Amino acid sequence: MALSLINAAYIIAALLFIFSLAGLSRHETAKEGNVLGMVGMGVALLGTLWLAGQRAEWLNWVAIAVAMAVGAAVGIRRARRVQMTGMPELIAMLHSFVGLAAVLVGYNSYLSGESDAVHSVEVFLGVFIGAVTLTGSVVAFLKLSARMSSRPLMLPARHWLNLTALVVSAGLLVWFVATLSIVPLAVMTVTALLFGWHLVASIGGGDMPVVVSMLNSYSGWAAAAAGFMLGNDLLIVTGALVGSSGAYLSYIMCRAMNRSFVSVIAGGFGSDGAVGNADVDYGDHRETTAEDVADLLTSAQSVVITPGYGMAVAQAQYPVAELTAKLRERGVTVRFGIHPVAGRLPGHMNVLLAEARVPYDIVLEMDEVNPDLPDTDVVLVIGANDTVNPAAEEDPTSPIAGMPVIEVWKARHVVVFKRSMNAGYAGVQNPLFFRENTAMLFGDAKDRVEDIIKAL
Ligand code: NDP
Repeated sequence: MALSLINAAYIIAALLFIFSLAGLSRHETAKEGNVLGMVGMGVALLGTLWLAGQRAEWLNWVAIAVAMAVGAAVGIRRARRVQMTGMPELIAMLHSFVGLAAVLVGYNSYLSGESDAVHSVEVFLGVFIGAVTLTGSVVAFLKLSARMSSRPLMLPARHWLNLTALVVSAGLLVWFVATLSIVPLAVMTVTALLFGWHLVASIGGGDMPVVVSMLNSYSGWAAAAAGFMLGNDLLIVTGALVGSSGAYLSYIMCRAMNRSFVSVIAGGFGSDGAVGNADVDYGDHRETTAEDVADLLTSAQSVVITPGYGMAVAQAQYPVAELTAKLRERGVTVRFGIHPVAGRLPGHMNVLLAEARVPYDIVLEMDEVNPDLPDTDVVLVIGANDTVNPAAEEDPTSPIAGMPVIEVWKARHVVVFKRSMNAGYAGVQNPLFFRENTAMLFGDAKDRVEDIIKAL
């Protein structure tokens, strides 16, 4: 009776996770999606605690309850303190915990002495995926938090190194299943840790979005592997949901960046032979003032706003929303053009604009807004850089060559909000800043947008 109730709790939790994912796929329902996910996780945790209680494993029960309390306290504290701009590295760090958990569960399972062939394959694969996720996520955390250079590590023969790691691990799997010795398991763990590290270290800054979603997927598979080792169906289902949705997100990101999925999985993609344009002389840039931009906007009929990471840094979404409302009151058509990898998280800009209550129907995707740009009077580029860089289309030697971008330079006037002439995340100079129809409005984006609102 009790066990069937626990199974029922697990099924309800799994269904809630599925509904949660469905909710998260659209702006309008994302909040409900989050709530469903939280309720699902609550049900799953209660079910697991109850299961431990049923088995009269009171010591386990106490250990789980204490671990949950400590985890919840740390989690709540971190989540309350994190800035929106710090979310990507926090997520990368959380992925690394999932990887670490899979490795620990694997070793625990091995040491507890269960020894059939299927189980040993589960243990081996679980530890492998967990170890790759662990070090890959740590490198992603270091890169995203600027504790490590975002430049790709270009070891000679790096693809061969990756291939060797995979082939060696396959050989170790055979050895492990045949002998159940700890030696192949330990050697594989070290190999997988190095492999994960190298895989992410060899990816350049501009390609990091794919890495973030790929690690998201790996963490799901690591959880599913832990589910197999523990014989926990809910963990298998949840891990598979995270793994497959992360894989699909990686696919969408690859398409957005015009990269092939296989080359992403192989690591070190998109940077071969790319030299960048740091030494090219594009001429002089033109500066403007908030008052002049206010004049420009007053005479405009159509305005497109393309936000990027700088809007998140400046927390400029609130004045941007206010400016949008003011212009719309005056009959100006205002729309937003959102690049799929703008910011540092998939959907980063959508979250910020939703937070500032910008109406969803004027927030368009890159493919929707690009055809309208030649007929647009003014484009306001608020803290975006790589995602509006014409070098992606025009310079085949650029590290971001081939990445589709928002073609803001096709509009009549472009105003770029940033603090300096510094490059964006990919470290590439942006020829847009030197175009005749571009004017630079220097300073913190929030302050400058507020100045424009005052001058309107
Ligand atoms: P970029 O990171 O290319 O550029 C952001 C710009 O904002 C900088 O040039 C900076 O210039 C400016 N900026 C920073 N702070 C402020 C401020 N307070 N006020 C005004 N401007 C500011 O932004 P994009 O969004 O265009 O591109 C995203 C990049 O991040 C891409 O390369 C993408 O591949 C990568 N990435 C994306 C992820 C995702 O999932 N979306 C994940 C990881 C990486 P200055 O310093 O001069 O002010």
